[in-house]
Amino acid sequence: MTALQVLKSTFGYDSFQGRQSEIIDSIVNGSDTLVLMPTGGGKSLCYQIPCLLLDGVGIVVSPLIALMQDQVSTLKSLGVKAEYLNSSLDFDERNQILHRMQNDDIDLLYMAPEGLLRPGFFQSLQDVNVSLFAIDEAHCVSQWGHDFRPEYLRLAELINQFPQAKTIALTATADKKTRIEMIDKLQLNDPNIFISSFDRPNIEYRVESKGKGNQQLYSFIKNEHSEDTGIVYCLSRKKVEKTTAFLKSKGFNAYSYHAGLSHEERNENQEIFLSQDNIIMVATIAFGMGIDKPDVRFVAHLDLPSSLEAYYQETGRAGRDGLSSTAWMIYGLQDVVLRRRMIDSGEGASDYKKVSHQKLNDILGFCETTTCRRKIILKYFDEELSINCNNCDTCLSPVEQMDGTTFAQKLLSCIYRTEQNFGAAHIIDVLHGKMTEKVMRFNHDRLSTYGIGDDLDDYAWKSIIRQLVVHGHLRIHNEISSLVFTDSSKLILSGKLQFKIRKDLQEQKKPKVKKAKKAPSVDVFKNLSVGENQIFEEIKNWRTKTAKKLGVPAYRVLSNKSLSSLIDLKPQTSEELYEVHGIGAAKVKDFGEEILNFFESSN
Ligand code: ADP
Ligand code: ZN
Repeated sequence: MTALQVLKSTFGYDSFQGRQSEIIDSIVNGSDTLVLMPTGGGKSLCYQIPCLLLDGVGIVVSPLIALMQDQVSTLKSLGVKAEYLNSSLDFDERNQILHRMQNDDIDLLYMAPEGLLRPGFFQSLQDVNVSLFAIDEAHCVSQWGHDFRPEYLRLAELINQFPQAKTIALTATADKKTRIEMIDKLQLNDPNIFISSFDRPNIEYRVESKGKGNQQLYSFIKNEHSEDTGIVYCLSRKKVEKTTAFLKSKGFNAYSYHAGLSHEERNENQEIFLSQDNIIMVATIAFGMGIDKPDVRFVAHLDLPSSLEAYYQETGRAGRDGLSSTAWMIYGLQDVVLRRRMIDSGEGASDYKKVSHQKLNDILGFCETTTCRRKIILKYFDEELSINCNNCDTCLSPVEQMDGTTFAQKLLSCIYRTEQNFGAAHIIDVLHGKMTEKVMRFNHDRLSTYGIGDDLDDYAWKSIIRQLVVHGHLRIHNEISSLVFTDSSKLILSGKLQFKIRKDLQEQKKPKVKKAKKAPSVDVFKNLSVGENQIFEEIKNWRTKTAKKLGVPAYRVLSNKSLSSLIDLKPQTSEELYEVHGIGAAKVKDFGEEILNFFESSN
């Protein structure tokens, strides 16, 4: 069989997308291979098909148990001989799998790196014909990265024991530095490197200033995604719990996921997320790596991620099916303060902290930009986008810049006169001429800057402080959170340096409502005739029932794209069924007859 035949007969797809075909050739021809491809780009097929084409067992190293179970059950439903080995199996089950491997009765074996490195396991592989090692989420080797897994550093020593096996490393995240580290640490031998575009054109990127976070989140979901599945990321467990409770009180199906929950609870919530529609998962970053749910319509960040890579990877969980999706974030001065403090007080050598601050600066630049956000993300991955994307907030409603020097001078002067001893809230009170207990205690009503800031509201002053901090014209003292001068503060104060600001000074009382996005099903099926619509509803009901019966998510029975393709093609025979997107031999065998029934009288 050729790769294309396997693609058609097993996976039910017509053609390779992107560089899949070249990547598969590279592996099958015996080269080490490095693949950088964005989430949803179709990495899995790049190693799954070679495993099916080559003699022996392909071992897939993947960091998360949930991910492997999901992939293996998908593969089994397609009729592929795939298994996983992990701690959830008992002694007999493990032995049986090992036995089958020795007899070449398994094509793909998924494992976590810990299991692979366990003493003794290596011995049991001696009699197995290992065709290839696929290292998924290979950026986990990077000590600078956010997903570092020490076990990944030891994989090379194991792989080297199997000189006949090829190695393919894959990731959705990689700046240049990580790229080099992956080749080095996994000891890839003169690898063929495939870098796909990291653009995710169906994701709309938006960043808003943080005001009343919960209300902003509520408006966003209600106006644009009220019946969609989404993920809301928060920094702390406590905030996850609070946000879940808030969303529930507003009638949404919200669940929590964070490291403080019991193992069972986490699994249960993840299972609900994977298998049901219209679920909102509120989570810390503990949730998500490898979550392969194609129809996540939005990812919302209530707190600033640590870097652009983290942001890109977290938002990348939206829209894997290629349909339009939103990455929405709110952020404010407090995020900057908190992130800086986390880095400074965290563990790690000074080099590490320096890199972390640089990464933070990069994502802050992204937040404050007045140019196309997609350009900035892609540039981070060394890609140039020549035209504006027209699918991010700065493209869709361009942000004005204005000369903010006078405002900055008022503010800096007030900070100077209060001896750089106070935080943002008090400085703004003084600018507004408020008579608070603190103002009285320190006699700040006698300062010349008392009450000179009435031309802007709280929100606007906070935005200016935030922009000054982000651009390095103010610093926040770590322990007492007071605002203090940097080298450039006096340059602004003396008029030697101009300060341009984003004009997001008016708090939007009513958040700007874009036209509500249609739910994906409507998106795909907008031109259905009455008859088609009826078939569509019938098949959808059948899909729900079947999924329930089999205990799998609905999209595993038929994806939305398959549904759409079915309605388009109205197949009358099994042969015609093969033409449908996502339908291959196993689906024809399992569901073919039932599906054809729906179309019997439709022509
Ligand atoms: P990644 O691991 O890169 O995030 P996946 O391998 O999970 O992406 O693939 C994303 C989606 O694209 C899956 O639903 C997959 O079935 C689909 N897909 C992959 N390759 C093709 C192809 N050649 N034709 C159609 N769909 C594909
Ligand atoms: Zn843009």
